[in-house]
Amino acid sequence: MQSKYPNRKAVEKIQQSNRILLVTHIKPDGDAVGSLLGLGLALQESGRQVQMVIEDGIPLSLRRLTGSDQIRKKAEGEFDLVIVVDCSDLGRVGKALDGKPAPDINIDHHITNEEFAELNLVDAHAVATAEIIYALLNDLELSLTPPVAAALLTGLITDTLGFRTSNVRPETFYLVARLMETSVDLPELYRRALVSRSFEAVKFWSFGLAKLEQADRLVWTSLTMNDRRAANYPGRDDADLINVLSSIDEMDVSMIFVEQPNGNIKVSWRAQPGFDVAVVAKEFGGGGHAAAAGAEIPGAMQEVQDKALERTRLALTGGRHV
Ligand code: 5GP
Ligand code: MN
Repeated sequence: MQSKYPNRKAVEKIQQSNRILLVTHIKPDGDAVGSLLGLGLALQESGRQVQMVIEDGIPLSLRRLTGSDQIRKKAEGEFDLVIVVDCSDLGRVGKALDGKPAPDINIDHHITNEEFAELNLVDAHAVATAEIIYALLNDLELSLTPPVAAALLTGLITDTLGFRTSNVRPETFYLVARLMETSVDLPELYRRALVSRSFEAVKFWSFGLAKLEQADRLVWTSLTMNDRRAANYPGRDDADLINVLSSIDEMDVSMIFVEQPNGNIKVSWRAQPGFDVAVVAKEFGGGGHAAAAGAEIPGAMQEVQDKALERTRLALTGGRHV
């Protein structure tokens, strides 16, 4: 498959480098981890020293991917190239780059990307950052081993919610077919990425579902630290409850408010095709895609809910799409 990304400069930079630092965002999802591992393992195969760093480490559900045990929480040593994957702004990497050189290459598919690196491989039409990584590996003429293919497929599966998002194109399936040819187990990767969940996660949902509200085609709920303790749920995220909310027929936009250990409120938005919630998330210092966006907002739960709901409602009813 011929690459459509302007990768020549990135290819040159990577070919001239031997000690490469790869980082991705806090609270990593399947595309963050899959893109990091796909690129990292392929570069290691080519004989380069690669360090892969995620400030929060890697979620349990993704630990079976080959190479995940190499991911560390802090970068150590000197590097001649720094690559950031799946981050729309540098705040998203947390402290992973503290004391390290500014990023050389930024590889991402978020429409809100701030093009913060010297070279920015940003394509908002790509269904996942993993799609851009695949094209780059192709241009670097690196071999597609099963662990690299499994990592990239995990990125594609998670960010498209199992090929259900409106940005999925015929090329997505050509890419999936090419990755499957390495004999990776697609159903098993799919099950691990999207289907399997812990008892505690579903118990955590029950607290959010009990508080479910709706008004004007907007659906929302909240999850507090108390809910989290009561469910014994270990993550700081919403355990994917937002995807249950966004399956409700009566909604154009769904939102979830998740209290964080630092007192901030993490807000997630999901929208039906035709609406753009990235714009609203960006106003609150976050970002994302038209159909799925997020922001971490300081303040008490009720105050943040009032502000974010009002802003979202205004955009929904204000004559222009959110
Ligand atoms: P989620 O709601 O699942 O955390 O994220 C939905 C989308 O919004 C993802 O593409 C994610 O990368 C992006 N996103 C979530 N939170 C933030 C944030 O705080 N800042 C930025 N820039 N993007 C975010
Ligand atoms: Mn991501």
